[in-house]
Amino acid sequence: MKASQATASQLPSDHLAKSAPLPVVIIGAGPIGLAAAAHLLERGLTPLILERGDDVGSAIQDWRHVSMFSPWRFNIDTAARSLLEWHGWEAPESEGFPTGADLIELYLKPLSKCPEIAPHIRFGALVTNVGRANIDKARNDGRTDAPLEIRVTRRDGADERLFARAVIDATGTSLKRSPAGAGGMHALGEKAASERIFYGMPDILGEHRARYGGKHVAVVGSGHSAVGALLELVELSHSFLEMKISWILRRSFDRQVFGGGAADQLRQRGSLGLKLEQQVADGRVCVVAPLAIEEIATDKGASLVIGGDSDGQPVNISADELIVVTGLRPDLSFLDEIRLDLDPALECPRALAPLIDPNVHKCGTVRPHGAFDLAQPEPGFFIVGMKSYGRAPTFLLATGYEQVRSTAAWLCGDLDGARRVELTLPETGICGGKDADDNVCCASEKSLARCCA
Ligand SMILES: Cc1cc2nc3c(=O)[nH]c(=O)nc-3n(C[C@H](O)[C@H](O)[C@H](O)COP(=O)(O)OP(=O)(O)OC[C@H]3O[C@@H](n4cnc5c(N)ncnc54)[C@H](O)[C@@H]3O)c2cc1C
Repeated sequence: MKASQATASQLPSDHLAKSAPLPVVIIGAGPIGLAAAAHLLERGLTPLILERGDDVGSAIQDWRHVSMFSPWRFNIDTAARSLLEWHGWEAPESEGFPTGADLIELYLKPLSKCPEIAPHIRFGALVTNVGRANIDKARNDGRTDAPLEIRVTRRDGADERLFARAVIDATGTSLKRSPAGAGGMHALGEKAASERIFYGMPDILGEHRARYGGKHVAVVGSGHSAVGALLELVELSHSFLEMKISWILRRSFDRQVFGGGAADQLRQRGSLGLKLEQQVADGRVCVVAPLAIEEIATDKGASLVIGGDSDGQPVNISADELIVVTGLRPDLSFLDEIRLDLDPALECPRALAPLIDPNVHKCGTVRPHGAFDLAQPEPGFFIVGMKSYGRAPTFLLATGYEQVRSTAAWLCGDLDGARRVELTLPETGICGGKDADDNVCCASEKSLARCCA
């Protein structure tokens, strides 16, 4: 077998033993990176968490004002809970819905301050490259014996080399936002118009109130973030009667854009779509669909002209501001010396792609999976958390917590524990596409067994 084909189970058994004194490096101190640390500590392994930001949950700061659609009981990892409770922490009410800020303040910060975890986190540590110490990507000789090497740029600008017995990449996808242009590329003029474009979820009712109040605001995107932004704009429009809200969809407009509604097993998530459906029916939100945005121009600095193709016809709409929530992408730039096996479309570990491909289904009921699906051909290297879903949009924290439990089990040699993955995820109540046999996903026992079970 070539070294590049090694899998988690086939890893030479002496690799971990040889590099045993080295830590397991976790990149990213988000909820999944911290949970990974708790699981490693529970199994007697030493983590080292490298975080580019100044505190834990720094990616969540961008959506701190947003109310989560999963209640606390889905948002707390089991090993993290044990550690916190050991130190006298009281969990928030299990059926309550935290905001992003609550998740940071009531859970992630207390977890990061536990004396078992705190000494193992380094903030202001931007990981710029990961590879094998002194062995480039093309070389097989000695590859599995060499430790992994991590390049870090510190806050003071200095570069540093660190070594690890294994690396868990939990860097999320928040740093790479998809543009407004159809086809995944920036529309012509999009970058030049950036002053009037917000990528992600602005704090419409708080910090950004003045930016959007009284304006014509267009939102492009069809996921939960787009729905959330539109509902906040509607709320703002109650104070600014002249406001106009447009919702640009790349796809054709049908009922599925509103999600599963009452059938969604996450009540909050389902109710978002139902509320928006009402606002569209009442004419408060004007739908422009389908529209493939091709060009964005600024009209003498006064407004944006968003132009594109709608079923073969050119369409232009004028707006003061554009909010772009068209998805997130994994940052693979620092992994170019790592042997990866990713799905070419979704950029997620190949084994996960059929489970989460939005072309096939949107049900959210991903079968439990762990180290064996996440391990990369590079021995000891794992992609977990939001990043493990690549460009697919349905990641839930509960999925990531099971991923890192299994990965920690694998890293300490407990392959049965790593294989025994258990997880029941709440369904969205809709399922989009069809599988290869033309079964509507989740509509039949047969397709249920294939795509969701
Ligand atoms: C608006 C919004 C609402 C959501 N609501 C829910 C919900 O209700 N329920 C749910 O289950 N999920 C929800 N999610 C999805 C998901 O659970 C969250 O995005 C979650 O934060 C993912 O956790 P993570 O640890 O994988 O990544 P992140 O939270 O993104 O953490 C990654 C960390 O890695 C750091 N990092 C990145 N690159 C580097 C680098 N090169 N070097 C060092 N550090 C780096 C970042 O600074 C960050 O701290 C939501 C997501 C969004 C965007």
